[in-house]
Amino acid sequence: MLPYPRPLAKLIDELTRLPGIGPKTAQRLAFFILSGPKERAKALSDAILEAKDKLVYCSICCNITDVDPCRICTSEKRDRRIITVVEEPKDVVAIERTREFNGHYHVLHGALSPIDGIGPSQLRIDELLKRCHSGEVQEVVVATDPNPEGEATALYLARLLKPLGIKVTRMAHGMPVGSDLEYVDEITLARAIEGRREL
Ligand SMILES: [Zn+2]
Repeated sequence: MLPYPRPLAKLIDELTRLPGIGPKTAQRLAFFILSGPKERAKALSDAILEAKDKLVYCSICCNITDVDPCRICTSEKRDRRIITVVEEPKDVVAIERTREFNGHYHVLHGALSPIDGIGPSQLRIDELLKRCHSGEVQEVVVATDPNPEGEATALYLARLLKPLGIKVTRMAHGMPVGSDLEYVDEITLARAIEGRREL
């Protein structure tokens, strides 16, 4: 690294830790922050700290929320008989944007990946099972990403949940293989929810 003044080197170093940010982008962001008014820099640092302080994981669905249980879990308007299981909180946002789904969610915080050492205990599967034992849930839609890890997770969940008498379905229709749910367009995603097949 070039001999930057220490505070600047520190800022670049912190930005480089962010996903998808290489040293060059970090340097560009650091200079951008420095060139702006102090209030903007403060607003950015305050927003980061506030998000860390005020956001928690919902004790029911494990999604990120500022109230626990989250607004989806406590909504009277949503169908409690159906749960869509996703890998990450951002996937909930993607599905909500389609306005095609009116059930509940469960966020696993990842997918099974033995190569990376991610087994069932690293995911929020116990929390999902607890919900499924309540007797209220009739269908679980597995909306993990259409890649090997997502598929393996879907099959694993189907094996766990089917003996409980729960219909386990998988979004498939039109989902590009290997894609990230987050980047699938809304119409494709809406069709994928509609055209789900039983596992
Ligand atoms: Zn919730």
